[in-house]
Amino acid sequence: MNPQPPRHWADLSPAQRREYVEAMGQRAYRARQLSAHYFEGLRDNPAEWTDLPSNVREALAEKFMPRLLTPIREIGCDGGTTVKTLWRMRDGALVESVLMRYPDRVTMCVSSQAGCGMACPFCATGQAGLQRNMSTAEIVEQVMDGARKLRRGQIPGGAGWVGNVVFMGMGEPLANYKAVLGAVRQLITPTPDGLGLSARGITVSTVGLVPRMQQLATEGIPLTLALSLHAPDDELRNELVPINARYQVAETLDAARTYFERTGRRVSIEYALIRDINDQPSRAELLAKVLRRRGNWGWVHVNLIPMNPTPGSIWTASRRVAQDEFVRRLEARGVPVTVRDTRGREIDGACGQLAAQQA
Ligand code: SAH
Repeated sequence: MNPQPPRHWADLSPAQRREYVEAMGQRAYRARQLSAHYFEGLRDNPAEWTDLPSNVREALAEKFMPRLLTPIREIGCDGGTTVKTLWRMRDGALVESVLMRYPDRVTMCVSSQAGCGMACPFCATGQAGLQRNMSTAEIVEQVMDGARKLRRGQIPGGAGWVGNVVFMGMGEPLANYKAVLGAVRQLITPTPDGLGLSARGITVSTVGLVPRMQQLATEGIPLTLALSLHAPDDELRNELVPINARYQVAETLDAARTYFERTGRRVSIEYALIRDINDQPSRAELLAKVLRRRGNWGWVHVNLIPMNPTPGSIWTASRRVAQDEFVRRLEARGVPVTVRDTRGREIDGACGQLAAQQA
């Protein structure tokens, strides 16, 4: 089967939409009507497009709204406020997304690739390699599904809205740069032509593909950049994040600093705490040092992630005392630091684990 998914409304720019609609022999304003249904009304069922004649509805739906993602498992926890979905794409490839509702906001964690080529040894997705890049619309549809569930009141807490999107599902987003940026544009374009999210609410997480980080800094979009550092020294980072052999800690942190300078957006350093591997006090000290060397606090923030052990893996979470000491050392040096909550842990909510079980 051709792995390239069919073209979808969410792949197109507003100008392309008008053009394609006209090419079908329809009036250009139909494009705006369809966008309003899709992005504003969150109506993906043509029966609800009641301002369109029914033959036009069918023609538009058939041409522009192919079903790209089919849910094959859906698991909830935290009283239904965390929902993880395993999706099958048209070529059979599996990806996951997670919706997390907090009292004051909703965050959606989305995938950008089926599998991943970065081979980080502690990550479930990294073990099977890359299958393929996702298309822009396949990425967008994960968010649309969450938005529709919230609108329909399917998530406890009443009708709601997706405020944050994090590219922390399967895949390395900057290795699928074009489709990811395309998806970001669909998400931040004001309604009705896009979903109208704030760029500041979108986080792109990377292993540190330096040239792509530099490119991202020139896009003029105030996205949040997260860098998966996991070790402050090359010796250990070479092991945990193999791309470090190509882009070493110093160069990667310089690119993160440049991102801050160009965009004014504080960079988030992701650091998964792994028992007896990277959680020593000396590494906390070194982490503080390499960050502080690149600027006064304000440019960066450290997000510690308790390691989520993957089945059969030798890696596990730090002991509580080690974690507390790591935080204390960073705080003592003034580093802005938070410890990520572990939502979804009991549903293997992190890091490609559902797809790995299915395969
Ligand atoms: N490829 C991107 C985004 C996907 S993963 C990246 O690496 O940044 C999002 C974050 O989860 C990354 O920081 C990743 O290193 C981390 N991660 C992966 N597996 C994990 C695990 N088992 N426990 C905790 N964090 C994990």
